[in-house]
Amino acid sequence: MSFTTLGLSAELLRAVAEKGYSEPTPIQLQAIPVILEGRDVLGAAQTGTGKTAGFTLPLLQRLNARPPGEGRRVIRALILVPTRELAAQVEESVTTYGKYVPLKSLVVFGGVNINPQISALRSGVDILVATPGRLLDHAGQKTVDLSKVEILVLDEADRMLDMGFIRDIRKVLALLPKKRQNLLFSATFSDEIKTLADGLLNAPTLVEVARRNTATELVSQVVHPVDRERKRALLSFLISSHDWQQVLVFMRTKHGANRLCEQLEQDGISAAAIHGNKSQGARTRALAEFKQGTVRVLVATDIAARGLDIDQLPHVVNYELPNIPEDYVHRIGRTGRAGNEGEALSLVCVDEHAYLKDIERLMKREIPKVVIPGYEPNPSLKAQPIPNGRGSQRGSAPRPANNAARRNPNNSAARPQSQDNKPRRAPGAVANDGNGNRSAKSSPQRPAPARPRGEREQPALLKRR
Ligand code: AMP
Repeated sequence: MSFTTLGLSAELLRAVAEKGYSEPTPIQLQAIPVILEGRDVLGAAQTGTGKTAGFTLPLLQRLNARPPGEGRRVIRALILVPTRELAAQVEESVTTYGKYVPLKSLVVFGGVNINPQISALRSGVDILVATPGRLLDHAGQKTVDLSKVEILVLDEADRMLDMGFIRDIRKVLALLPKKRQNLLFSATFSDEIKTLADGLLNAPTLVEVARRNTATELVSQVVHPVDRERKRALLSFLISSHDWQQVLVFMRTKHGANRLCEQLEQDGISAAAIHGNKSQGARTRALAEFKQGTVRVLVATDIAARGLDIDQLPHVVNYELPNIPEDYVHRIGRTGRAGNEGEALSLVCVDEHAYLKDIERLMKREIPKVVIPGYEPNPSLKAQPIPNGRGSQRGSAPRPANNAARRNPNNSAARPQSQDNKPRRAPGAVANDGNGNRSAKSSPQRPAPARPRGEREQPALLKRR
């Protein structure tokens, strides 16, 4: 199936061809025709599936069907996303795919000076990509007018709710005209998402690709058991002995990320950290250096890493396992993207065995364990509580909003809404294993269960871990 069959205009097809895409991904196949028809969409898809182009291409086409007139441009499409990195990347996609259409886009997010954003908004914009907080800052200062929005996209809606943005989202919705097209994308479907979707979407079409956590064939996974004090030496050893040039390393805490960077630098391995306490400039710089290859290791916390799109990232290392099993799936999804093979390895000490069990239960598979000679764990070491983790005295991890769903990922409570506003499957819906492998499925693939709330990563407010 080629892009030409989807009803996209020549300008958009040209941009897609220049980007080098030969055929649409499953989510694009399903979403593009439906969005072109003007229907509301409930999209069950994670990053890495090509969903950004899936909503951006038809959005551009619909707006361009009525190009802006002579007067000042008004915001006709609003794309809300949870994080700054994702906002920047989505806007970059809008620019790339919209190269040959006369529409203007802008991205606004917090952590940077608001004034250039105000000037850009004043000069007129057709498509606005925004994080909720900064958008409301603009609304409060009356520097943004959302009264002419025709298309609303909520991207990674589950993350937005996890990060505590539900009230902000509701405030934004109140600023929009009632009649509009709504597209909501989410990797998981908690009751809260279902409530949001119920109130927002009008007879939506359900487009979905298989849960990534059942399909990670392109990502080879391994656990290296090791003592907690020897993780750093093992990481340096692995990077040096394999001569890895680009490694994304996950930590649970911002402080831990900073410390690991310093230690790697001491070992002669260039490293940069990316997390919520870093200024936006520092985050952008770290990411750029990592992409260019001037920095070998990017050490990230979960929230900061969300939405990072790094082509052909070969290695992801879980220096510490996440206490939320779904985060593991998001983490390893940073590699093995767009059909490339990737490797995800986890350094697991005795304290983390319960986390590993949870992850294996969610993935429905055991991850192979390989002890690296010279780094054998000491069997007499006892598990210690993980600070701000499960079982910690200082604050145990919050339970998920939907415990039933968490215990049983296939529990119907975790499924997309389907009552009055029943989403319809897209015609010819094709299921995808999350890695670009398609197969026609007769039964719907269901998204992963709910995540706990209140995990917003904020300066000095990291409660969860
Ligand atoms: P997304 O899920 O939107 O974050 O996209 C994941 C990655 O897939 C990005 O690097 C896109 O550039 C890439 N991509 C999107 N659509 C296609 C396609 N049709 N063919 C190949 N790669 C694609």
